[in-house]
Amino acid sequence: MTETAKHIVILGGGTAGWLTANIIAAEYDPDTGVQVTLVESPNTPPIGVGEGTWPSMRSTLLKIGISETEFVQTCSATLKQGTRFENWATGDGEVYYHPFSLPHGFSDLNLADYWNAGDLGDRSFAECVTPQYATCERGLAPKQIQVPEYAFTLNYGYHLDAGKFAHLLKTNAVTKLGVTHVLADVSKVHAGAEGNISSLETSAGLISGDLYVDCSGLSSLLIGSHYGVPLSSQRDTLFNDRALALQVPYADPADAIATTTKATAHQAGWFWDIGLQHRRGVGAVFSSRHADETSITQALQTYLRATNAPAEAVEQSPRLIEFEPGYRHRFWEKNCVAIGLSAGFVEPLEASALVLVELSARRLAEYIPRLGVNMQSVAATFNEEFTGRWRQIIEFLKLHYALSQRTDSRYWLEHQSASSMPNGLEQKLKDWQFRCPWHQDESRVDEMFPAASYQYVLYGMGFSSAVQPSIYRNAQARAQKARSLFDEVQRQGRQFTQHLPAHRQLLDAVGQRGFAERHPQ
Ligand SMILES: Cc1cc2nc3c(=O)[nH]c(=O)nc-3n(C[C@H](O)[C@H](O)[C@H](O)COP(=O)(O)OP(=O)(O)OC[C@H]3O[C@@H](n4cnc5c(N)ncnc54)[C@H](O)[C@@H]3O)c2cc1C
Repeated sequence: MTETAKHIVILGGGTAGWLTANIIAAEYDPDTGVQVTLVESPNTPPIGVGEGTWPSMRSTLLKIGISETEFVQTCSATLKQGTRFENWATGDGEVYYHPFSLPHGFSDLNLADYWNAGDLGDRSFAECVTPQYATCERGLAPKQIQVPEYAFTLNYGYHLDAGKFAHLLKTNAVTKLGVTHVLADVSKVHAGAEGNISSLETSAGLISGDLYVDCSGLSSLLIGSHYGVPLSSQRDTLFNDRALALQVPYADPADAIATTTKATAHQAGWFWDIGLQHRRGVGAVFSSRHADETSITQALQTYLRATNAPAEAVEQSPRLIEFEPGYRHRFWEKNCVAIGLSAGFVEPLEASALVLVELSARRLAEYIPRLGVNMQSVAATFNEEFTGRWRQIIEFLKLHYALSQRTDSRYWLEHQSASSMPNGLEQKLKDWQFRCPWHQDESRVDEMFPAASYQYVLYGMGFSSAVQPSIYRNAQARAQKARSLFDEVQRQGRQFTQHLPAHRQLLDAVGQRGFAERHPQ
């Protein structure tokens, strides 16, 4: 082992591998000697799904030197403002949003207290606390064309074509950041001193490095097959273990493009619907313990017909993807770190996989100078952090199911049973009957799901907290502030609705002339 980990070898050229390569290579001046090699099989294609990101992707793209205009133009990307949930609470066609913008005034005042206690009529929580509700409902873009690259009027992430995105990341890494790309199959892993990996045997020869990043997808060649680190199955909490995926053209190329991921619950899971510029990505996630592939395929066809898919798209055979919901007991073992599907995967609800890749790769990049000195203590810290993040993801996803009042299938009833509920979530739900989630519920400043996310899901799903803001000190002044924030949300909602373009209109303008350039910082 050299003083610092100078040569990082990444196994896998899917989104996880290429994002990791870009994030590490963008961090280090070439003169430091930190060198990144990515080896990927010419015979095993990347999984090719994973088309919804979080707003964090904007700062990742900026940092690795990709222009937003180029990204939107080449990846058929669209701007995602959150998720629209349908049929999750009762199955009667009800809708709620989990938008990316925080509730107004979130750092100072908990508007959820006043929404729960208040007199706001039938208006939903999201509608009352953020103007983003209005833009999502009307399919408007989160910014105008003259707003510079990566800046926003309303917070947004992306929907993207996964294949085109991996290609763009590859070109950027190789041509701008000096990453070495090897197209070869890895056939054997060689172990050296103290169980560290010494080299990978490939069809192009031996590749050796100081640190190995396992981005080999669900096959998990290094952390799973080589080191035998087990998967901690989450099947008893999150039942879904199958997905059926399709690409669906728009019936009319000028059709409106949704600015949210649509997640529509069905009897044994849910359908995702993601609008790209030239097509939709649609699929069904389901539990094989509760439904078979044939019945879900039929349900997916019914969904496609109901959402105006062309007849030939309805008839095509979807691609089946099988997975064991869970995450590794450890993500960092010896001189190997797992990032992406090799580290774990639970269903794509709330699209938490790519953001976890971004977070893991950023953390790894920060640690690189310390690795030669004390890799095992870094590994322990990394494992603790990411185990905590996985637990939060599981808990937050389970919230969507645990709060459902659907009784139309065994799937939904079992999801509501106490035996399938993580302990931490059960306790929080008890607390939140009497107070609304807020900053005290966040254990990290960079929490993946801040209290605001819990609020959107809880109150969107019909949960209520018995709070009495009238007993707070300075109650009148606080209530007055809450009223003015609620008014401000409505005022901004009207203003944005007048001035923001339709989502497709903005994307057409980006295609023709691009976003304004960013001002130098
Ligand atoms: C149905 C579904 C929907 C999803 N939706 C979302 C979403 O909306 N948002 C989100 O954030 N995430 C989503 N995900 C997760 C997302 O797809 C993945 O996190 C992402 O694509 C990263 O995959 P990966 O790079 O880890 O693996 P892969 O894309 O599978 O890449 C594996 C790589 O390893 C290489 N490899 C394998 N074996 C060898 C070998 N022997 N030698 C050399 N190379 C090898 C392959 O060639 C390939 O390049 C979804 C996942 C599924 C299943």
